[in-house]
Amino acid sequence: MAELPVQRIRVAVEAPQHSGLSGPLDYLSERALAPGSLVRVPLGRRELMGIVWPGEPDGGAEAAALRPILAELDGVPPLSASWCQLVEFAASYYQRSIGELALAVLPPQLRELDNTQLRARLKKLGKFLASPAEAQGSAPDAGETPAGRPTLSPAQQQVLDELDALLDAARNSAPAPVLLYGITGSGKTEVYLRAAEHALAQGRQVLVLVPEINLTPQLEARFAERFGGSAASGGAAHRIVSLHSALTPAQRLRNWLAAHLGEADLVLGTRLAVFASMPRLGLIVVDEEHDPSYKQQDGARYSARDLAIYRAHQEKIPVILGSATPSLESWQRANEGRYKRLLLPGRIGGGALPRVRLFDMKRMPLSKGVTTALTTPLLDALRLRLERGEQSLIFLNRRGYAPVLHCAECNWKSDCPHCSAWRVFHKGDRTLRCHHCGFTERVPSACPSCGNQDIAPLGRGTERLEEQLQEQLPGARVLRIDADSTKHKGELEAQLAAVHSGEVDILVGTQMVTKGHDFRRITLVAAVNPDGALFSSDFRAPERLFALLMQAGGRAGRDAEAAARSEMWVQTWHPEHALYQALKQHDFEAFAKSQLAERESAGLPPFAHLALLRAEGRTVEAAQGFLKAAAAFAQAMPEAQGCLVYPAIPMSVARVANVERMQMLVEAGSRGALQRLLWHWMPELHALKREHKGLLRWALDVDPLAI
Ligand code: ADP
Ligand code: ZN
Ligand code: ZN
Repeated sequence: MAELPVQRIRVAVEAPQHSGLSGPLDYLSERALAPGSLVRVPLGRRELMGIVWPGEPDGGAEAAALRPILAELDGVPPLSASWCQLVEFAASYYQRSIGELALAVLPPQLRELDNTQLRARLKKLGKFLASPAEAQGSAPDAGETPAGRPTLSPAQQQVLDELDALLDAARNSAPAPVLLYGITGSGKTEVYLRAAEHALAQGRQVLVLVPEINLTPQLEARFAERFGGSAASGGAAHRIVSLHSALTPAQRLRNWLAAHLGEADLVLGTRLAVFASMPRLGLIVVDEEHDPSYKQQDGARYSARDLAIYRAHQEKIPVILGSATPSLESWQRANEGRYKRLLLPGRIGGGALPRVRLFDMKRMPLSKGVTTALTTPLLDALRLRLERGEQSLIFLNRRGYAPVLHCAECNWKSDCPHCSAWRVFHKGDRTLRCHHCGFTERVPSACPSCGNQDIAPLGRGTERLEEQLQEQLPGARVLRIDADSTKHKGELEAQLAAVHSGEVDILVGTQMVTKGHDFRRITLVAAVNPDGALFSSDFRAPERLFALLMQAGGRAGRDAEAAARSEMWVQTWHPEHALYQALKQHDFEAFAKSQLAERESAGLPPFAHLALLRAEGRTVEAAQGFLKAAAAFAQAMPEAQGCLVYPAIPMSVARVANVERMQMLVEAGSRGALQRLLWHWMPELHALKREHKGLLRWALDVDPLAI
């Protein structure tokens, strides 16, 4: 019997980072397979999905030692070379193994399928695609007649003209990323729609990223209304699919396949959608580009915004980053001319931004019943809205009833036995709950330490604020929206619908309510206790606070008629602070300028590049020992030139679930210098882990967001 000619192929498999297998592995195949093909291969005793990876096989091992692939999944076309390149770049930049990242960003169900199952899925998909595009739209927005799209404002027209000019100039190279800067309601989404229309007309696919799952239905409705085959889209239906983690595994696979097969023209999704396989991709939009949710917080800690920029560059297609408060990274790149900044200067319809009023808490009279949150002037302002039948929004970024329970006799506090944090008092279900490890107990009826019956909540969360509002404003319909009130599926949608339909007078919530939602009847937004971020050890805290407050303010006066009397109140002990002064003028540019000057003189991003090495151990010594050894190693490396390794410090919540957490910052003047260090350092850290037995885990965060 003649031997079949066997060849080596390179396959990316999901070998975890810490297994030390970092690159694709060699397998044997009886025939050539196109790069990007999905295959099933053996690994150890398991059988896994793998991806035939572009590039030369390793060739190291004897052919006899290699194992054959088990099957090729031939029902779908291979992943494209540029998709593989995107994954390879991300793996290298964020220091993960290619296989781990490549498989992690595919829909989980795809990884489990054999050929028969895949065929069944494709058949189902075929039926789904044959059905008319689902009517997902809600009512059209004001100003848009169902028969067509709105006439562009002169500013929008100018932005689109400049976009065209940019594309013309780029021709065969990558156009510069566009930073679309404009306040809430300035018409950014309409610009996305027009740019998308342009790409669709050329037969290309469009990827739109949003920071939060909650915001996808709203945007999906708007895109569906325009492109989903209604009269407004001229009848030419385009398939729109969403990709985010709240989809069922089956929906996620279906939508992913629709994009991969080129059947879906528009993909709307959260950060994971940046890895969607889209063979005809022609435009990427990153809405609210400054939003921290674009950064993945575990595994490969990638920034979807940054990868979107990479992807657009690689595919030579435009990318639009939109925001009212751009990240200082993007703003600085626009200052340097590396991004093209395009401005939408005012609200559509000329609606004004709410007048910002700073209330100096130092001057508040201390009278009975007055708390630091609900001051007399604020209560008066709320009453006025109630009389007028308008809505108010109160923003407090702390959920629960009170952050801590306290005994005045013995000074006992409701700390968590497993974490260096307080357990939060939740009055609704009478629990003390740790927001870090989840440890929950019923509230004790007396002080667990001295038996005193009189233990009291200290401070205030949204739950308590809601209660106080109900006490102070009897008859007012108060609704709280935060992570606790929206735990179950459908709750958030129902609560938002109640706000929209006017069943709510006062909305109380955490930052959840400040994002994106188009509330039309709100004329008062109040931030009752935002000062904390001014003095945070995290250098990005002011940037985040400014964005949050601008965004919260943007919830008021979206209705032009109400805009004139809309107000945003900030209760603060530091009204003179530059951040609030800039907020008062709605002056992001002044704020950015002062922050960037501070960052530059302190040598912080975007003027420096950071990586954070985190270590977790049963003891502080174990975590610290590893980081110290890692630092010593880096110091001795010639590749560490131009990098600074700071001493290890405890994380802001040092102990969580009985694990001690330390971190060590690495700083470099250039991305290149940082990458060079990491590239040589990482293999050593894998080896070092084995010498530090008390170490539980370590992780590297490149371009960390929270420090
Ligand atoms: P942003 O995305 O900046 O918040 P939108 O694009 O959502 O702004 O626009 C705000 C509101 O103005 C929306 O209700 C939108 O339908 C409407 N709108 C946008 N552009 C126009 C236009 N050219 N003419 C009329 N209405 C418009
Ligand atoms: Zn006590
Ligand atoms: Zn805890």
